[in-house]
Amino acid sequence: MDSLWINAPAKINLGLDVIRRREDGYHEVKMIMQSIRLFDRLTLAKSKVPGIHLTTNLGFLPVNEDNLVYKSARLLMDEFNIDSGISIQLDKRIPVAAGMAGGSTDAASCLLAMNRLFDLNLSDQQLMERGITLGADIPYCIMKGTALSEGIGEILSPLPGAPDCYVLIAKPGFHVSTKFVYTNLKLDEQTNHPDIDHMIDCIGKNDLRGLCDSMANILETVTIPEHPEIADIKKTMLEQGALGSLMSGSGPTVFGIFDDLDKAKAAKEKCRKLPYRCFVFVTDFYR
Ligand code: ATP
Repeated sequence: MDSLWINAPAKINLGLDVIRRREDGYHEVKMIMQSIRLFDRLTLAKSKVPGIHLTTNLGFLPVNEDNLVYKSARLLMDEFNIDSGISIQLDKRIPVAAGMAGGSTDAASCLLAMNRLFDLNLSDQQLMERGITLGADIPYCIMKGTALSEGIGEILSPLPGAPDCYVLIAKPGFHVSTKFVYTNLKLDEQTNHPDIDHMIDCIGKNDLRGLCDSMANILETVTIPEHPEIADIKKTMLEQGALGSLMSGSGPTVFGIFDDLDKAKAAKEKCRKLPYRCFVFVTDFYR
């Protein structure tokens, strides 16, 4: 095999809690991760020209070692002394810096693809051990589906598939700094933590309504006061019949969960008309 392509799905957080700030500066999290059918695509081909040749459809993205795809290819090429060249075309559809793990899923897919292309015979577990050295969400992006993520993201437990539904994504056209959000997160005895265990119970019982009622993201306490537009998008989705609506990751992407496709599409049109240049997309869970 000399070439292959792979889809890299985005994720949303159905629940996101931060348990504590560790002495080393990392945050201990408890998150319910869910892949959705919104994909970047990577096409890899062996090349006679040595080195990594990365191209992408987004002109502003780095194509050197600052790109997580480049880094993950480099990691395996160094470890396994791969001296043939590799060309990688990265077609991005997942909005960048949006809270949907775009870079992490690209890196995860690159590790999976390199493993296949060069017959490295690494298990998913072995790829996850390498992925965590490049980013906390990469092991989950290798696993995919519905999962509980703990520790700094490296302790993963697969969950039963979350109930069937439609997902409306709305990513407003402003930027949120993940570093700012985590630095300004206040954790004390007054902090109201999401009930992640209850959400897991709802998933086990296939209870979509219960799940939507308990969806919560502790990072909204920082991002929404900075960007009240996020609350506005959530309100718009709920007014249009979403069973629940939440910010994903540190934002600014907001998603809504619907049990009816027409309602999801109508909500999409409302969100499109909001004044923050939203990227809008209706999809469902990737299993
Ligand atoms: P997360 O949900 O994990 O916080 P995110 O959606 O906030 O991720 P990304 O889309 O991964 O953020 O991008 C964050 C930064 O990483 C961007 O500013 C970008 O320059 C850099 N980056 C490196 N590699 C990639 C990649 N393959 N795709 C997108 N961004 C990348």
